[in-house]
Amino acid sequence: GPPTHSRNSTNTLPGITEAFKANTFTNKVNLGVGAYRDDAGKPYVLPSVRTAEKRLIFKELDKEYAGITGTPAFTKAAATLAYSASSPVLDNIAITQSISGTGALRIGGAFLERFYPHSKTIYVPSPSWANHAAIFKDSRLDVKQYRYYNKETIGLDIDGLLADIKNAPPRSVFLLHACAHNPTGVDPTPEQWRTISDVVKNGGHFAFFDMAYQGFASGDTDKDAYAVRYFVEQGHQIALCQSFAKNMGLYGERVGAFSLLAASAEEKKRLDSQIKILVRPLYSNPPIGGARIATEILNDPELNTQWLSEVKGMADRIIAMRDALKGGLEECGSKLKWDHITSQIGMFCYTGLRPEQVDELANKYSIYGTRDGRISVAGLTSGNVKYVAESIHNVTKN
Ligand code: PMP
Repeated sequence: GPPTHSRNSTNTLPGITEAFKANTFTNKVNLGVGAYRDDAGKPYVLPSVRTAEKRLIFKELDKEYAGITGTPAFTKAAATLAYSASSPVLDNIAITQSISGTGALRIGGAFLERFYPHSKTIYVPSPSWANHAAIFKDSRLDVKQYRYYNKETIGLDIDGLLADIKNAPPRSVFLLHACAHNPTGVDPTPEQWRTISDVVKNGGHFAFFDMAYQGFASGDTDKDAYAVRYFVEQGHQIALCQSFAKNMGLYGERVGAFSLLAASAEEKKRLDSQIKILVRPLYSNPPIGGARIATEILNDPELNTQWLSEVKGMADRIIAMRDALKGGLEECGSKLKWDHITSQIGMFCYTGLRPEQVDELANKYSIYGTRDGRISVAGLTSGNVKYVAESIHNVTKN
């Protein structure tokens, strides 16, 4: 059997990566990775990205600065992807390129702090991606939580969520994960989104969407944009953070966008200028390389079709691994219910494992996840999923 190792006492991804690297067991499994892996466990560069890069080299473009808010060809394409080509509000969207999703959130935080007069509090789901609280605190906002995840059902606490939105002071700001909630993998259904929209509207609240996984959740970029588009249809003036880290695999290229939906062309102009006031002293203008790759992919019809099928390929592999993990646990004779493994969506799965069980997985089986029970489904492969299922069964059967 595998050797024993020091306690997996950390809950941070860098901590897990370190413990994983130090482990010498050949069948070790890292389920703490925050990036997609292929079925061989390797980082995946999308073929559409490779093609776009080759074309860009061939074009011998200059390296001049982009404008403060980035390249218009990119931001227009990003807005179209999120809001849809047929959206009647496309002309009223104030948008800036950003340093991936994190940079978009940080600009959004700065915008609220400087220009949103009604509240300096942002409500984030409990739990949420840990960096949300850090980003908004650094933006000098108060960060509060609204109920989201129900431990008992390993699902959405819809009643708690709606009650917390209803009870917030009027015109509060609510951060909503557009799809593939990180870390739980639990998303509202379309029907629940419609109710959430009503409740947000009744409170006069401001919906601030973080969409870091468009297309990556279901494999369909339109389907994953449902919540954003529904809110827009319902007349919400939303904020939206986009990232191309996951859906184009452009992690380190730092490609994203921050947008605000204005009520009129006149208001859009003012928002554009407010965004420029924020961005100019932060970093002057965004990097051009990754945005050029994304633009090439979004604006070339043939490459776009290819990209969409590659996004679907990643989403499908993740869905297949969810099925295999659940099936493996059932084959082991597990008496526990594992339906949440397949009902959750996106890269992460909240297994329901307790911290001691996560520690045992690391110490006895060399399988590393975070102590909140979250595993990255992208770390599963057809080669390791059976071993992971057996090991999870071993730590949960008593
Ligand atoms: N939001 C959420 C919910 C995320 O999970 C991530 C990535 N882990 C991001 C935003 C931002 O990532 P990036 O800055 O790499 O685009």
